[in-house]
Amino acid sequence: MSEFKNLIDGQWVGGASISRNINPSDTADIVGEYAQADAAQARQAVQAARAAFKSWSVSTPQLRFDVLDRAGSTILARKEELGRLLAREEGKTLPEAIGEVGRAAQIFKFFAGEALRIGGELVPSVRPGLTVEMTREPLGVIGMITPWNFPIAIPAWKIAPALAYGNTVVIKPADLVPGCTWEIARILVESGLPAGVLNLVMGRGSVVGEALVGSSDVDAISFTGSVATGRAIGAKCFAAGQKVQLEMGGKNPMVVVDDADLNVAVEACLNGAFYSTGQRCTASSRLIVTDGIHDRFVAALTEKMRALRVGHALAADTQIGPVVDAKQLKQDLDYIEIARSEGGTVVGGEQVKRDTEGFFLAPALVTGTTNAMRINREEVFGPVASVIRVKDYDEALATANDTEFGLSTGICTTSLKYASHFKRHAQAGMVMVNAATAGVDYHVPFGGRKGSSYGPREQGTYAREFYTTVKTAYINAG
Ligand code: NDP
Repeated sequence: MSEFKNLIDGQWVGGASISRNINPSDTADIVGEYAQADAAQARQAVQAARAAFKSWSVSTPQLRFDVLDRAGSTILARKEELGRLLAREEGKTLPEAIGEVGRAAQIFKFFAGEALRIGGELVPSVRPGLTVEMTREPLGVIGMITPWNFPIAIPAWKIAPALAYGNTVVIKPADLVPGCTWEIARILVESGLPAGVLNLVMGRGSVVGEALVGSSDVDAISFTGSVATGRAIGAKCFAAGQKVQLEMGGKNPMVVVDDADLNVAVEACLNGAFYSTGQRCTASSRLIVTDGIHDRFVAALTEKMRALRVGHALAADTQIGPVVDAKQLKQDLDYIEIARSEGGTVVGGEQVKRDTEGFFLAPALVTGTTNAMRINREEVFGPVASVIRVKDYDEALATANDTEFGLSTGICTTSLKYASHFKRHAQAGMVMVNAATAGVDYHVPFGGRKGSSYGPREQGTYAREFYTTVKTAYINAG
């Protein structure tokens, strides 16, 4: 089996050890053996990025456009093959995986264009003879730490803007799913990215991640992952004076009010709660349903949920792929038990046997819950959703906002009044009306409030707030 190596200063180098990338649909299928970097290699990667910053930070927008645009085209051209890799390493169904790859390609194309659109502002000074110029400059070396649940889209939405705005990068993908980031690195090299501009160091967060966080040679850290890890990283970045952006968990509510179109509501919840095996930070895990529609909604959603086909991510008829690994499966099963012990009624949530050894779990719906229960306070990160019954819209809104998270939120209603009020008063970074809480566009900002996010938004033109720093210049032409 071939070994996939780290990329440091334009060279593919072996690591201190090897990690086997295992297919969660079939644990006998080894996707590949990936080199694990140690802390010294992470530091070498940082030095390579520092050295490369000198020229990349002043490279022409045309060069940056060309590299990113070529990378986007290659990813798009290879989307079926990369989709298979993604489905094998993470467990998304093939159509979901191909969709994610397509999105990564679009992100590279979008930020290729952004490289050409970096402008500034010129204003008259309040003092005679002076003009004031405001420009944006790259930050320097960006350390990136990514989670396992979007193995190609999240690395893409960090790497593409960082490079477009003239930064250099050291990226550490999640140890569970290094394959897609490895492919992005190779595609960027083949697209003409100079040595050292992007460095890939694979391995554990506690080793490689730790070497980036707090390093005086890393100017900023962009992290996506769990709240606990994110907060610990944030504290270290603050102490070291590193700029930091944290995208963390969610406990996203979907409100369904009496006047909702039942089919629209059921489809939005089915998708938001269970697709991608519920392993989305934007998944709808709290379904807040008003009295008048509650019973009809629960009956219809239960029927649709029970009909979902769970299986091997590459099988043509699979709608829900496996859970990512044994640890996450245990976490999902533990939370189902917690929900039961708190008094919830669980439908589904059984482990499922298939022809291959994989981490298959039937989606679970928990009814009869209150917002105070742990199942509604803590992120499960699996195909598990609970229903909270409320009397009216006002209670629904208050319940939706009663959480330490604030990533995505949604409402199903046919009333403009409720839709408008909810949009304004929902305490979240993203609000969906009659659409699933998960599933977002690639050209607009992504991020949340409260415990879900910290720092500037990712994606769209807003990404420049993190990846650039503003310079104000005063010019006395007299
Ligand atoms: P983790 O926080 O466990 O890991 C995220 C990344 O941090 C991994 O690459 C991990 O490395 C690394 N890491 C772990 N410990 C450290 C450390 N001490 N120093 C530096 N890096 C470290 O999250 P998961 O990978 O389990 O991802 C799931 C979580 O991500 C969920 O909570 C989910 O909500 C959140 N998420 C948020 C999104 C958002 O945009 N808001 C999007 C997607 C996911 P290792 O490889 O060793 O695990």
